[in-house]
Amino acid sequence: MGNKDFFDEEDKKLIQSEYDSLVNNLLRCNKPGDKEMIDKAFRIANEAHWNMRRKSGEPYIIHPISVAKIVNQEIGLGAKSIATALLHDVVEDTDYSLEDVERDFGPKISSLIDGLTKISGTYNKENTASMQAENFRKMLMTLSDDMRVILIKIADRLHNMRTLDSMPEHKKMKIAGETIFLYAPLAHRLGLYAIKSELEDLSFKFRQPQIYEEIASKLKHSEKKFYALINKFSLPIIDKLNKADIQFDISGRPKSIFSIWKKMQSKNVPFEEIYDVLAVRVVFEPVPGIPEKTQCWNIYSMITDSYLPKPDRLRDWVSRPKPNGYEALHVTVMGPEGKWVEVQIRSRRMDEIAERGYAAHWKYKGDSAQESELDKWIKKIRTMLENPLEDPIEFLDEFKMNLFSSEIMVFTPKGTLVSLPKGASALDFAYEIHTEIGNKAIGAKVNYKLNPISAVLMSGDQVEIITSDIAKPDKEWLSFVRTSKAKEAIKDALKTETTNRIHKGMEILESKLRDLGVVPNAEVVRKLMLAYDVPNKDELYSGIELDLIKLDNLKKIVRKSPGKNVIKYWELKLIGAKKETREVPEKSDKIDRSVPFLLRENVENSEQSYEIASCCNPIPGDEVTGYLSPEGQIIIHKPKCPVAIRIMSNEGNRIIAVKWAMHKLVSFLARIHMTGIDRIGLVNEITNIISAELKVNMTNINISVQNGIFEGTIDVYIHHTKDLNNLILKISNIKGIENVKRVEDFSK
Ligand code: MN
Repeated sequence: MGNKDFFDEEDKKLIQSEYDSLVNNLLRCNKPGDKEMIDKAFRIANEAHWNMRRKSGEPYIIHPISVAKIVNQEIGLGAKSIATALLHDVVEDTDYSLEDVERDFGPKISSLIDGLTKISGTYNKENTASMQAENFRKMLMTLSDDMRVILIKIADRLHNMRTLDSMPEHKKMKIAGETIFLYAPLAHRLGLYAIKSELEDLSFKFRQPQIYEEIASKLKHSEKKFYALINKFSLPIIDKLNKADIQFDISGRPKSIFSIWKKMQSKNVPFEEIYDVLAVRVVFEPVPGIPEKTQCWNIYSMITDSYLPKPDRLRDWVSRPKPNGYEALHVTVMGPEGKWVEVQIRSRRMDEIAERGYAAHWKYKGDSAQESELDKWIKKIRTMLENPLEDPIEFLDEFKMNLFSSEIMVFTPKGTLVSLPKGASALDFAYEIHTEIGNKAIGAKVNYKLNPISAVLMSGDQVEIITSDIAKPDKEWLSFVRTSKAKEAIKDALKTETTNRIHKGMEILESKLRDLGVVPNAEVVRKLMLAYDVPNKDELYSGIELDLIKLDNLKKIVRKSPGKNVIKYWELKLIGAKKETREVPEKSDKIDRSVPFLLRENVENSEQSYEIASCCNPIPGDEVTGYLSPEGQIIIHKPKCPVAIRIMSNEGNRIIAVKWAMHKLVSFLARIHMTGIDRIGLVNEITNIISAELKVNMTNINISVQNGIFEGTIDVYIHHTKDLNNLILKISNIKGIENVKRVEDFSK
């Protein structure tokens, strides 16, 4: 402890009460020594972080205590993980070293903390574009050591998101971007459903505060009505379950804000329509001796005695759990007041897996249980992590794809099930069976019909691979495989082939040189590279092997006196070098990052120009975020733009906060899409409205009518979203128009 004590009584009281609330609510820490270990971890962490405060002003130790709480109470991990969470920032931020951890807590906790420290330890060191991707990779690598590292990291992120308010603007965007890009899908994939939803909502709140607030306030407004409906719906079910002597909990929870918004976007419907679907969860205490599946269907039967089910909305995740381990029976029924209600039926065990994911999954798994879908997924991820792609950004994209892609199930000729990502080809299947089968594949029989190896497979297909000994992997194959296993195998095979070719080419050259009585050396090779205009030795050798380089003038070339050629060589090198070190003006120095960059109207005159991204076409009034390109240009995206999200999470250090200035002179291009029922005079009415709006300039109108259905787009120049919204409102009031919306991406 330092000489001075900056913490007052209030700080100390806060620390004690936060810690008390952790230890008084511990779950599953009954082993001898558990409590002592947690106490010791707290004492050491508290001392190490003493007098340190977070940006919010509260004592730093509140953060590790909160992470420990999440780790135990929300994820369900035990004493070692709690101790690790308490100590997770100690090695990085204080004098307490990893060796100290090992001495005080043993090798397991020390290796967990090492896993967490390495990740953040590389932050801020260099400013390479892929630094963040590299960090993610490092963190993900720990998946193959101990899953707990990832789970604690997710808890750390959740607490940071819960307390994000006190961060500076551009950091907020970076952290929120990473969260939506990686942590939320990761939490989802690990079955941490509640945490995933919270991460999404928090990220959404910071990235698009206006829309978030709008939905949140609408939710609050309809809350009373919501619970009244849920109660009305639940009463008959409660009655039936009670009579059947079933122990259960029934609850209705509103949807998360982010999921409501996502549905509004994908279905293009207003809030009210999404909100119309209610969801109720029945969690029952299973009676021993009867399969849980039977008990689920029994409850299903009681519910559908009271309410009619929607025939196409039955989801049986009990017979076949989701790849992330989720189990439940979902049924949608017609509830009171003509509203659809989704009922989720789960046993206590299923519920715990659904809420806590991975940790709960292991708790119930025991030793003898067979490999679950989640285990298989983790195994797959591990293989991927053990052979990481060289480019960290590419690696991250690949990993992301693995997080999201849904699976298909196909059969071998003997009826064994093989799971592959959606969109996988017959070649993926071949590599999944065996690398050699993949390398030798020439075709596939899909459901007994002959197909090329590029054929995309569907769930339920039966696949047989046809091989040939003379077949070999081709570069083109990379364009139609989806699994990293296949990609890696193909790249490996191509590399081996190149190596062989280079080797053979070298042998050919050496023997020819020997015939001429020339000793092959670096000087000779350099002359040849120059004469045949190839950039390196490998190209020279493989060119020779492929007969692209005919060694006709060999004698003349090698005998040539160095003189001129050497000069030429050096010249060449100089030109090459100049190219590589092309200077990128560091314009970023001019930008003051502590205040939002103002997007002014007269771009030409200002020091720093900006550009509107064509992937999302933001206009004044839209929420926007800036990306500082390596060339020093600020590119303006909408925060929800997928391109922007990807950039933000890979190159967070390039995000800058931006703000619109008033725009009166410059207009922005926007596109409106409309549909409706055609009638005489409709188009006229639309164009009249546009020309009556003084602030709007129409540049392009495109309308088609088919079977009486009218569809059209209009491109307009406007100054602000207000003008655009006004226009949309006016058009939607025209008789016959069914739907008007703004088109985000019209670059295509
Ligand atoms: Mn932390």
